[in-house]
Amino acid sequence: MSKSSQALWRKNNPEKLAEYGRRDYAKHRKKRSAKAKEWRLKNKEKMASYRAKWESNNPEKAKATKQKWTTENKEKLKVINKAWHKRNKKARNEYASKYYAEHKEEIRVRKAKYAQEHPEMLRKSERARRATQLEVAEYFTPKMEGLVRSVWDNRCAICGRKKRPDERRFPIDHWLPLSKGHALSLSNAVLMCPQCNIKKGAKYPCEVYSEETVIRVETILSENGRN
Ligand SMILES: [Zn+2]
Repeated sequence: MSKSSQALWRKNNPEKLAEYGRRDYAKHRKKRSAKAKEWRLKNKEKMASYRAKWESNNPEKAKATKQKWTTENKEKLKVINKAWHKRNKKARNEYASKYYAEHKEEIRVRKAKYAQEHPEMLRKSERARRATQLEVAEYFTPKMEGLVRSVWDNRCAICGRKKRPDERRFPIDHWLPLSKGHALSLSNAVLMCPQCNIKKGAKYPCEVYSEETVIRVETILSENGRN
């Protein structure tokens, strides 16, 4: 076909021409997208600047795109965020402590103001703090329990009464109360008869017992702690 007859054919067959175009486009799709990807990888900075320009010209669209991506890629985002935080942990901590040191007074004032305006939040955080305290890590093995029982020889640490044969074993209890954040350990575990146990409750020993009793028990506890 000569050039002019080709042109004539194109003019008379616009639908066929479009169909050929579509077929050709589809045929080279993979190659083309690979090339485009390669270009994008080689020109990251250019891409970023195009993107920034487009975003500043289309703020609404950009915002919507970002939101859409965020909701569609929650898991991916979690992974990315986690990795970022891990990479920047040290720098972030340094920044935070520097910022805190430089804005101490400002932060104090802001916190006080917030607490005054939101008393309910203060109560909430106080509760959370107490709950954390209660979750004191306890590491107390059966072996440690055996040691405590043999030290106290089935006697109550407070009144000295020995367990009667018809009674259950005396429970092991915290000397300094768990509710104030003291974990069970060799230097904080005592045997107590049920009567003394009820009287003590969650108080500090010095609030309940005589100085003599406190000193006597704490002497034994400090020896246990050294084992
Ligand atoms: Zn007792």
